[in-house]
Amino acid sequence: MGRMIDSNSPGSLCCFCLPAFLPKSSPAQDPTCPMPDATIINFFLRNMVQQPSIKPESTDSPEQPVKMYLPRTNESETLKKIRHTASHVMAMAVQKLFPKAQVTIGPWIENGFYYDFDNSEPFTEKDLKAIQKEMVKIVNRKLPVIREEVTREEAQRRIKEINEPYKLEILESIKEEPITIYHLGDQWWDLCAGPHLENTGELNPKAIELESVAGAYWRGDATKAQLQRIYGTAWETAEQLAEYKRRKEEALRRDHRKLGKELGLFIFSDDVGPGLPLWTPKGTVLRSLLEDFLKQEQLKRGYLPVVTPHIAKVDLFKISGHWQKYKEDMFPLMAEDEQSAAKEEGFTLKPMNCPFHIQIYKSELRSYRELPMRLAEFGTVYRYEQSGELGGLTRVRGFTVDDSHLFVTPEQLDSEFLNVVDLILSVFNKLQLKNFKARLSFRDPASDKYIGADEAWEKAQGAIRRAVEKLGMEHFEGIGEAAFYGPKLDFIFRDALEREWQLGTVQVDYNLPERFELEYVAEDGTRQRPVMIHRAPFGSLERLIGILIEEYAGDFPLWLSPIQARLLTVSDEFLPFAKEVAEKMRSLNIRAEADTSGERLGKQIRNAEKDKIPVMGIVGAKEVETDSLSIRTRAAGELGSIPVAEVLERLKNAISNYSNF
Ligand SMILES: [Zn+2]
Ligand SMILES: [Zn+2]
Repeated sequence: MGRMIDSNSPGSLCCFCLPAFLPKSSPAQDPTCPMPDATIINFFLRNMVQQPSIKPESTDSPEQPVKMYLPRTNESETLKKIRHTASHVMAMAVQKLFPKAQVTIGPWIENGFYYDFDNSEPFTEKDLKAIQKEMVKIVNRKLPVIREEVTREEAQRRIKEINEPYKLEILESIKEEPITIYHLGDQWWDLCAGPHLENTGELNPKAIELESVAGAYWRGDATKAQLQRIYGTAWETAEQLAEYKRRKEEALRRDHRKLGKELGLFIFSDDVGPGLPLWTPKGTVLRSLLEDFLKQEQLKRGYLPVVTPHIAKVDLFKISGHWQKYKEDMFPLMAEDEQSAAKEEGFTLKPMNCPFHIQIYKSELRSYRELPMRLAEFGTVYRYEQSGELGGLTRVRGFTVDDSHLFVTPEQLDSEFLNVVDLILSVFNKLQLKNFKARLSFRDPASDKYIGADEAWEKAQGAIRRAVEKLGMEHFEGIGEAAFYGPKLDFIFRDALEREWQLGTVQVDYNLPERFELEYVAEDGTRQRPVMIHRAPFGSLERLIGILIEEYAGDFPLWLSPIQARLLTVSDEFLPFAKEVAEKMRSLNIRAEADTSGERLGKQIRNAEKDKIPVMGIVGAKEVETDSLSIRTRAAGELGSIPVAEVLERLKNAISNYSNF
C-alpha cells in the first residue's frame, strides 16, 4: 500500500503526456490539505472506482462479483469532508502522543488521506495502533470543527507561537487571502482550505484505519528533510472499509511484481540499477508476442516501420521544447568536455520518439500524395524518474513505447483518427480487455494555457468526438485534460478490481509541425503544414504487461502464454513420446515443452497449475498406444482423451483465433 497520488503532474507536452510517463510522486505542493490535481487519474494509479459488475475471471479466485459501490474522494463531497477531517484528527493524535513531531501537509487522496510529519524516529506498526486509538478518543469527544479567517500576519504570529516551521513555509506559499484556519474544538488547529465535517463525532471510528508509514521528502525534494508519511483510509461505513480492504488484498495477490517473479517474466538487478527491468526468456516471449501482434496489425493498416537511435544531440530537444520544459525528467547531458557542458552541447538519451520521426518526415519535401504517412516504431525511451518513485513495471526509467506518428493533411484528420481508434479497439479486443471507456480530453476554453487558433481546436475536438460517436463508444469528457497543443482521446481501462488504468492514447498535434516547420506540397502546388497524430495503443510495453499480469492474475490467454502446452507423464518411460509430441507442437509454432522433472504426476500437475500453463497433455500407456493425450486445461478442466492430431489442430485454431483451447 502507500501508492500515492500527487498534485505534481508533468504537464502536457508532446509524448511526455503519453500514459507511460508517470507523474512525479512528490507530496502535494500546495498549502495544507491541497486538492490533488484532477489530472492524476490520467495515470497509472491503483484507484478504486465505482461501477460494479466485473467478475475476476481467474480460476483460482472464485469470489463473488463485486457489488459494492466505492466512490473516490473526488466523487463524493461527504468522503472529501470525512478524509479531510480524519487527516486533521490523525495529526492531532500524533502530536498528542509524539509532542515533538512537527506537522507539514495532510491532503486527502483517492482512497483516504495522508499526513507528513517530521519526527525523529520512524513510526512503527505499534505506533499506528496507538495513534488510531487516540483518534477514536478525539472522535468520541465530538469536537466541533471551527473555521476561522485570519490575516497573514495573524497566521504568522500563531504559527510562530506553536513553533511549526513547516507551517510557516506553507503559509508563504498560500497566495490567496484571507487565510483560513480550522480548529478542532480549542484543542488543535491547522491551516486548511477545507471542507470538513462539522464535528469530529461525525466520523465513524469503525470505518477508519491507518494503513502504513512511508518516507517522504519535504516538498518531494530529496535534498530536503525526510518526513514520515502516515497513510490512512476513512469511509462512511464499516462495510465500505471491509470492501476496500478486500480489494486491497486481492490487488496484492495479483501484484505484477510478485507474479512477474513467480512466473519468471522479468527481474531487476541492483547492479543494473533501479527502474531498469531485465526481461527473462519467458518475459521476452511475451513482449515479442505483443510486439509482433501490433506490428502485423500496423502493416495491414499501412504503417511504415522505422528504427531510430537511443541518443541524440540535445539541440533536437531544444527545438521540440522538451529540454527547456522537461530537462529535470531527462537523463543528464553527455558532454564531451566542460566547455561543451557549460554551453549545453552534447547528447542525451531520448525521452520520446517524435522528434526522430519528424526528422524522417523532413528528410524530403513531401507531396500530398505521400500523405497520410504513418511512421511506427517500438521505441525505447528513457526518463529520469526519482529512484524513490520506481516500482515494478509501472514506474521505470527505460521503457518501450508502441509509438507512431501520423503526418496527415487537415482533410485527412477525421478518417485517420478513426482508423487509429479502430486499431486501438481491435488491440484491446484481442487482449480481452473489455471494460474501458474513452475520455475526450478537451481544452478548457476559459484557460489561456493552450496554443493555437480556436478554429483548429474546434476542428480537432470535432474529429475526436465524431470518431467516438461513430464507433458508439462509451465516453465522457475531460474538460481541461487536453495537452496544451491539442486534444486527446484517452482510453481508461477498468480492471477486475475496478481500478482504473490509462491505456492507449491518441493525440492531435498542431504544435510540433509548427516548431519543426513541417510542410507538404498541396494539390494546388502551395506549401501546407501537416497535422500530426501521436498514438500508442499500449502506452508502453512495460506498463501494459504490468496491467495484463494483474488483470489476468497471471493467467494469460492461450495466444499470449509464454508456454502454451506442457506434456506431463505418468512415468519416465513415456517421456520419449511426450518429447516427440512437444516437438511436433513446436514445429507448428505452438510453444510446448515436456515436463522432464521426474516428479510424480500429481506434482507435475500442481507445477503446471502454478506456472499457469493453459493446456496440459498427460501421457500414460493408453495414450502412447492410441496416439492421444489426456487433456486438462485451465479454462475447462478435464477434457478426457483426445487424439494427438486433433489436439494439434485445435491448439492451432484456438491460438490463431485468440480463443481458448
Ligand atoms: Zn483540512
Ligand atoms: Zn509523439
